[in-house]
Amino acid sequence: MSGLSLKGPIADDQMMIWEDAGILIENGHIHSIGKYSDVLPKAEELKAKIIKLEGNHTCLPGFIDAHTHICFGGSRANDYAMRNAGKTYLEIAKAGGGIWDTVTQTRRATQEELVKSTIKIANRHLKNGVTTLEVKSGYGLSTGEELKMLRAIKDVNASISADLIPTCLAAHMLPKDYLGSAKEYLSEISTKLFPILKKEQLTNRIDAFIEESAFSKNQIVPYFQKAKEMGFDITVHADQFSPLGSEVAVKFRAISADHLEASTQKEIELLAKSNVIATALPGASLGLGCNFTPARKILDAGGALAIASDHNPGSAPMGDLLTQATILGTFEKLSNAEVLSGITFRAAAALKLSDRGQLKEGYLADLNIFHTNNYQDILYQQGAFKPCMVWKNGEVIFDKHSKT
Ligand SMILES: [Zn+2]
Repeated sequence: MSGLSLKGPIADDQMMIWEDAGILIENGHIHSIGKYSDVLPKAEELKAKIIKLEGNHTCLPGFIDAHTHICFGGSRANDYAMRNAGKTYLEIAKAGGGIWDTVTQTRRATQEELVKSTIKIANRHLKNGVTTLEVKSGYGLSTGEELKMLRAIKDVNASISADLIPTCLAAHMLPKDYLGSAKEYLSEISTKLFPILKKEQLTNRIDAFIEESAFSKNQIVPYFQKAKEMGFDITVHADQFSPLGSEVAVKFRAISADHLEASTQKEIELLAKSNVIATALPGASLGLGCNFTPARKILDAGGALAIASDHNPGSAPMGDLLTQATILGTFEKLSNAEVLSGITFRAAAALKLSDRGQLKEGYLADLNIFHTNNYQDILYQQGAFKPCMVWKNGEVIFDKHSKT
């Protein structure tokens, strides 16, 4: 995935494929990559341990899921059943479901319980080749409860092999039990919570849900201003049901604008001209039965497209990045190169990470190995084909070949 452009369409024949290749790893990073016969002398010189893969294998960079909500309490299986039975959002909320149910269950959980459940989910993603995951707060919705979530995410990151990139989503919705206005809530979060995030180094990323049911552009502008002044990076839940957030994302030079299912040509062009990464979340479209993000149009307009799972208990319960990315590719007519870019180096850019997402000298040795000699098989099987071996920072994390 190296040598490809960050923005615009990519044809499959632009991808560079090494045949009979070798990868030399040193200190968790790729020391050199190329023809096995060229890499071998360097490996011998460094007295490297040599691992030969028997049979046909294809190696890709570790996948990067740039948008998830995998730290939560409870389950929303009943919501899902009700939604599929034709119940409306309001009917589900009245029956005690909806996002407020997740907020209640998450608040009820201890930090330790959240750590335990998040480790379980993150390790499942890792086994499927996702070596870096973004994880949002946003089910706490008060200074104390958001801190509990972000501390839990920090604990998880310290105890598992995958890298977790935390994001503060205290502006997910106005909490039902908050006594003041949206303006007062956001001002309280930015004055009380933001300094603690800095002090405890819990996150450098601030996210907000800009939507009729969440926060308006006008409410979010001062919140993002404060975040920017304090040196946070911005990311936005934009244009999910109405085209509201991408303009704010561009204005604040957000790292990414995510969702975009409702973006029109105007928002698509605005994003394409900017440096904001457009992140499609096919898992939310699959969970809600809605249309997909206009990924083809975004690429054709010259935009940068990342693809993430949005894994969350409500609208995107599947949590399978590869499956969702390949399905988005089928519906939106994306090349193999565009789909794979969306979950590797373009997803890295959506998290402002410049050390991963490509098999390239100096990059992290995060590797996915599939049992095939044709890379097309990987997306062809629509997500059912999983890696037989996953490496993180130069260590084997999962190996289907080993009997242990
Ligand atoms: Zn989300």
